[in-house]
Amino acid sequence: RDANVKKPEWLRQRAPQGEKFAKLQESLSKLKLNTVCVEAQCPNIGECWNGGGGAGGEGDGIATATIMLLGDTCTRGCRFCAVKTSRNPPPPDPMEPENTAQAIASWGVDYIVLTSVDRDDLPDGGSGHFARTVEAMKKLKPEILVECLTSDFRGDLDAVSSLVNSGLDVFAHNIETVKRLQRIVRDPRAGYEQSLSVLKHAKVAEEGMITKSSIMLGLGESDEEVKESMSDLRAIGVDILTLGQYLQPTPLHLTVKEYVTPEKFAFWKSYGESIGFKYVASGPLVRSSYRAGELFVQNLVK
Ligand code: SF4
Ligand code: SF4
Repeated sequence: RDANVKKPEWLRQRAPQGEKFAKLQESLSKLKLNTVCVEAQCPNIGECWNGGGGAGGEGDGIATATIMLLGDTCTRGCRFCAVKTSRNPPPPDPMEPENTAQAIASWGVDYIVLTSVDRDDLPDGGSGHFARTVEAMKKLKPEILVECLTSDFRGDLDAVSSLVNSGLDVFAHNIETVKRLQRIVRDPRAGYEQSLSVLKHAKVAEEGMITKSSIMLGLGESDEEVKESMSDLRAIGVDILTLGQYLQPTPLHLTVKEYVTPEKFAFWKSYGESIGFKYVASGPLVRSSYRAGELFVQNLVK
């Protein structure tokens, strides 16, 4: 049975260490900044905060971290996600864009991923709030690279436009799974075509915009279905893809159908790059923002 699929050895987490990690951890304690990296106990924190090179940290030194905007309560309920949900979350803090930008600027990270819960209760889905944060960030520290990992804004393409025109470097939106499994895995308000239309629009609304998406494996998808998703993403010009293992956050969430081997993840990386993605991060513990800064600089800065 699904629930009895045993967790393999390769999913064991390593304790983070490294010089840059230690510095960021120390300065973080003084700032009122909640990172997804710490809150979600992300296994990649050593690699991301050190700028890659393994948990010991000898990468290019482009440190990545992820911050959650717009509160901790989501208006949707996807069956793979442990974030708490409510129809009416508290209103966004109007000072959050400015305060967050200041905290990030003084923190010393090089590549920041701004993400959020879905806010279907807000008229623009929170796109203006994201855009204000990007603008404040770039004003305070123009050299910082900013990625926004957003909801689908209910397919509202004007909301997508106002965000991608705000000065960010990478627009990310996750399709999460293959076409057939969308209804089982994601909230019914999300959908494959809607997500593709958001990614497609981001690319045309701002010339040269770099776009990115992510797929979880181990939910019962076939290889053919993964290939189809990858080719659908390439067809709308998506530049960057990440692939990781789905892990069941609590017994109430979807069970894992399969633990995909590290070798298979390596296969998907080379397959993805062979069909034209600028880079693919693929591995059992890879998450959407995994070593994003380091990989961005290695593969996209000419
Ligand atoms: Fe933070 Fe994302 Fe890296 Fe995890 S993968 S440590 S959440 S930046
Ligand atoms: Fe979780 Fe995002 Fe789904 Fe909300 S929309 S339940 S935050 S995956």
